[in-house]
Amino acid sequence: MSQGHFLFGIVTLLAAKLLSWRRSSVNRKIRHLESVKLSVLNTEELLLSTTSIFIFDCDGVIWKGNNLIDGAASTLSMLRDQGKQVYFMTNNSINSRRDYLKKFHKLGLSWVTEDQVLCSAFAAAIYFQKYPLSSPQKKVFVIGQTGIIDELQLARIAHIGGPSFSDKRIVGEIGVEGSKIENIDHDQDVEAVLVGFDSAITYYKIQYAQICLNSNNNCRFIATNTDAVKHITSDQEWAGSGAIVGAIRGCTLQEPIVVGKPGPVIVDYLCEKYKVDRKNICMIGDRLDTDILFGINNGLRTILSLSGCTTYSQFCNNNFNGDIVPTFHVDSIADLAKNI
Ligand SMILES: [Mg+2]
Repeated sequence: MSQGHFLFGIVTLLAAKLLSWRRSSVNRKIRHLESVKLSVLNTEELLLSTTSIFIFDCDGVIWKGNNLIDGAASTLSMLRDQGKQVYFMTNNSINSRRDYLKKFHKLGLSWVTEDQVLCSAFAAAIYFQKYPLSSPQKKVFVIGQTGIIDELQLARIAHIGGPSFSDKRIVGEIGVEGSKIENIDHDQDVEAVLVGFDSAITYYKIQYAQICLNSNNNCRFIATNTDAVKHITSDQEWAGSGAIVGAIRGCTLQEPIVVGKPGPVIVDYLCEKYKVDRKNICMIGDRLDTDILFGINNGLRTILSLSGCTTYSQFCNNNFNGDIVPTFHVDSIADLAKNI
């Protein structure tokens, strides 16, 4: 090949690369437009006639703090009147379904039953029922609060840890000369470490999880969720379960199985329970990286509600490189009940 031909080849290759980069950049910028705004083109009727189960995220979709979102109650009534199954799903593992039920009832949604509440602590119980421990003496070590313990107890899954480990400390002072550090005596029958949000996380709990995962035979690493932040107060974001899961990931170099959003456990459970096809399920949420990703990963239709943590401008500005695109978007779920 002559030098001229070689240079021409290089220039053509670079031009093609530049064109392809520009195309993908433009594509990313318009991808949010692939999501149809409900209330146009009679999409509500189409959605309603082909969807049998609606799964709603809670915070930012049904309520904000302690207030029901305007129009949420009438949308839920309309769906129930049309014979649709309605579920509520939250990644928050602090509370059990029983705890959440109190909130629904307090907000006036008195028809909601425990069965309709799908919290990530319950998802963990479903996971262990589907993929049980290998023998009756085996158990789960929990890093988390009472919600997880309550759900494991209800499902009769053997466990240790949780709040009962919050007072335990390493014996000896690490880094203090002459202080004798005692090894932790861990339970060799722990066959899974389940990690959720734990406001009383300690180095002792992290070390206990590390020994179980690195030393016990076939010990599984399960996470309720890996949400980066959570909303504890209204004007500040707080470190979420992702921070706690990250500590265990960091010392074991293992990746967890996530049982809450965006994992598949809850969708598999609903599909088996109702013998329904996943394309007839619709997920409605306010977060792209958990709610909408959960729907997309599991073959569901998705609706982004702009009533919560994702603003219209964040949606248009291609958060997550525009890769997480909901099927539809609405200003709030009140829009679902309009024009029907
Ligand atoms: Mg939410």
